[in-house]
Amino acid sequence: MHQGYLRLLKQRGGMLVCGQRIDALDHQGGLWTARALETSFQARVIINAAGAWADHVAALAGVRPLGLVPKRRTAIIVDGLSGIDTRTMPTVDFTATDAYFKPDGSRIMASLGDQDPVEAQDIRPDEWEIALLADWLQRETQLSVKRIGHSWAGLRTFVSDASPVVGFDDGVPNFFWLAAQGGYGIMMAPALGQAAATLARHHDLPDELTTQGVDAADLCRSREAKPATALPGQAI
Ligand SMILES: Cc1cc2nc3c(=O)[nH]c(=O)nc-3n(C[C@H](O)[C@H](O)[C@H](O)COP(=O)(O)OP(=O)(O)OC[C@H]3O[C@@H](n4cnc5c(N)ncnc54)[C@H](O)[C@@H]3O)c2cc1C
Repeated sequence: MHQGYLRLLKQRGGMLVCGQRIDALDHQGGLWTARALETSFQARVIINAAGAWADHVAALAGVRPLGLVPKRRTAIIVDGLSGIDTRTMPTVDFTATDAYFKPDGSRIMASLGDQDPVEAQDIRPDEWEIALLADWLQRETQLSVKRIGHSWAGLRTFVSDASPVVGFDDGVPNFFWLAAQGGYGIMMAPALGQAAATLARHHDLPDELTTQGVDAADLCRSREAKPATALPGQAI
């Protein structure tokens, strides 16, 4: 999916620049300048999609932070399974603990559903966490973990209502948020990408999204100020 999006970006004249950390943002004469160590970029609108670091990037621009909380999660891929047909295996969620496992081709992906708040940082999987995860999988299922093909840890980043923030900042002009994607940034990418692309150009959300109940007012940061609303039949 990621490679597909990159191909489309390049076909449309977009450019991907890696390894250049933006460490200064200035807004002058209606143009933003984003500076990295070896290069700089100019644009009328800046889209802050810096994941766990989005509040840090906002601070460079003098924008009030969202109060993002990055939460660490570890996952493993178990391979070398014998006698198990993963094609017919469902995703299994343990509702009491948030742990889950699911088929991943002929392999199985598993996570304890850990969500420990941490500072924004590049996360590496921890040997102890991986051992706990393999042990859990063996105790809770009939699987025997013989080989861990891959393990990784990453950050799932949230605001207090755990919904994404997509839209222009209400304090600083032409500063656009695409942040707080939590644990669903990959699955939401087609919809959030479309929402961001239209809202950043000051267009209305496409019917495709509004008919599914997506409302720009629920995505923007100023929703913080909205009073709590009750579900039908529910007292506030
Ligand atoms: C173990 C695990 C399992 C998950 N499983 C799923 C799943 O099944 N489905 C799903 O939908 N989601 C899943 N997620 C969540 C998903 O990975 C995130 O929601 C998604 O990656 C968030 O994307 P993002 O672009 O906001 O942030 P990121 O992917 O973190 O991207 C932010 C980028 O900004 C860059 N950046 C930061 N600061 C700067 C700077 N100053 N200058 C330049 N660049 C900067 C960073 O280097 C990074 O590349 C999982 C996450 C974890 C950890």
